[in-house]
Amino acid sequence: MKLLVTGGAGYIGSVVALQLLKAGHEVAVLDNLSKGHEEAVPEGAELVRADLLDAERLAETLAGGYDGVLHFAALSLVGESVEQPERYYRANVVGTLNLLDAMRDAGVPRLVFSSTAAVYGEPDEVPIPETAPTRPTNPYGGAKLAADQLISFHTKAHRLKTTSLRYFNVAGASGALGEDHEPETHLIPLVLSAALGERENIKIFGTDYPTPDGTPVRDYIHVEDLGRAHLLALEAADEAETGEHRVYNLGNGSGFSVREVIEAACEVTGRSIQAVEAPRRTGDPAMLVASSRKIREELGWKPEKPSLEAMISDAWDWMQKYPRGYDE
Ligand code: UDP
Repeated sequence: MKLLVTGGAGYIGSVVALQLLKAGHEVAVLDNLSKGHEEAVPEGAELVRADLLDAERLAETLAGGYDGVLHFAALSLVGESVEQPERYYRANVVGTLNLLDAMRDAGVPRLVFSSTAAVYGEPDEVPIPETAPTRPTNPYGGAKLAADQLISFHTKAHRLKTTSLRYFNVAGASGALGEDHEPETHLIPLVLSAALGERENIKIFGTDYPTPDGTPVRDYIHVEDLGRAHLLALEAADEAETGEHRVYNLGNGSGFSVREVIEAACEVTGRSIQAVEAPRRTGDPAMLVASSRKIREELGWKPEKPSLEAMISDAWDWMQKYPRGYDE
């Protein structure tokens, strides 16, 4: 298939773009490079440097004729979204609307969208099924939920075949592709940079949560396992009814606390990591663990690297190889 990957210069998008190329697809990456890295765009993929808010450029690009779009491009920092909700709704909702408009006009039938566990907010029960109430606690989750709803209605009205994958916490690396955010806010890369000695310590944001050790619990999934789910979703679109928007949670179904992640990182790296207790971070739910039963049953998805140690170890290898990320 001929596929457009928005955000394909970013962490997850670049890994999926490479998996698509390896599977024999033709891939173009659309990225404004505000967060992404040109070096992360896999060889063999064409790079279109454009912004989703530039509707004209989008229309021109999609007019090239595509079989499907994988839509990763988004702003994704919870804390920043609390400070600047308008920026998050513009990028993540208006950007998605522009993309849908351009897809409709160009007759592009398939979409796989990067949604998030943040749409659920503070869950009543874990593991979280797709039927759980959606009550986002921050503008990032709110904007992704609005985009999910927009995609649902648009899919029905314009007879598309679409899938939203609700990611839990993505980690690990894939060969030469890894996590390099500026600023970095994610737990695992920050813990590993403390192990490398690039930062003095790791702050634990909140130790009074209603969890076994008082620190928040998350479900970590390897970026390669997450990536493979996108290829399955794309293939499944062939058998789907037109007008169908599928939603799948994507995690491993086991939760690890912040303290457990730090302990696992000490073990994997063999380094001591200093942890410092700090106040809670605004907008963080106590516990997010996925039920991925639906995607396992319907698409046959199965993680190949479910262990936290494997994710940390791959991220550690990448970080040691590229201590300054893509700027080397
Ligand atoms: N966290 C932390 N210290 C950090 C970064 C993150 O204690 O320096 C915690 C954060 O509060 C959350 C968990 O680690 O409970 C995972 O955070 P991350 O930003 O990696 O992902 P999120 O769950 O927010 O998508």
